[in-house]
Amino acid sequence: PLNNRLKTVARYIQHERLADIGSDHAYLPLYALENNLIRSAIAGEVVAGPFEAAVQNVKKYNASSSIDVRLGNGLEVIKPGEVDVITICGMGGPLIADIITTGKDKLSNHPRLVLQSNIHTEAVRRALVSLGYEIIAEEIMKEKKHTYEIIVAEYATEKVEYTQKALKFGPILLQNKNEVFIEKWNREYQHLIKVLSAIEHDPVHAQKHEQLKEEISLLKEVLGYVD
Ligand code: SAM
Repeated sequence: PLNNRLKTVARYIQHERLADIGSDHAYLPLYALENNLIRSAIAGEVVAGPFEAAVQNVKKYNASSSIDVRLGNGLEVIKPGEVDVITICGMGGPLIADIITTGKDKLSNHPRLVLQSNIHTEAVRRALVSLGYEIIAEEIMKEKKHTYEIIVAEYATEKVEYTQKALKFGPILLQNKNEVFIEKWNREYQHLIKVLSAIEHDPVHAQKHEQLKEEISLLKEVLGYVD
């Protein structure tokens, strides 16, 4: 059975052709196929071990005619126009951002992007904006003590702009601050308070104080804390 994190990602897939980049065991494409969410998939992997695991798993479930496992870096495993939806899951935000930016030629038919990052999701949002994509859904969730963010993006007909605050916290997540959201950003808030108190009286870090204070006050505003 698929974990909740990837099941949540799968809720945003309902297309003919999927590419799952960094597919590891190809669990997500196998699940999507089994549940008739897609017709065919490409499972991309850059590392030999996980690539082999994906090949074996696809064979085991007799899915070789529908799921093509390809070895390669990022979007280099797909041709422009080859898929309608791309999933990239279980990586840090900067790596996901780098994969879609480097592979932007493969996005010429504007596939939907479903991106699940573990940290620094802001980098993903920034990359999406520069590629002309718009965020249409976002989720933040917890599984086994880890926090995950999922961003669903579609190519925008008109250029979208987000505030710095929306890029950091998520334009949609900000509209409905759930428990996981509050917990994540409260943890960051507590952490920054500690960092600030450790360096507060050190004049060498004067510039850093100011920056920290600004970040703390933004967190306070988002979390609804009052002085
Ligand atoms: N997507 C699966 C999931 O969410 O459970 C696997 C996540 S696993 C933590 C990340 C996978 O991405 C690894 O198997 C790794 O080899 C692969 N990966 C990392 N960078 C990649 C890249 N540039 N291109 C393709 N795969 C990559």
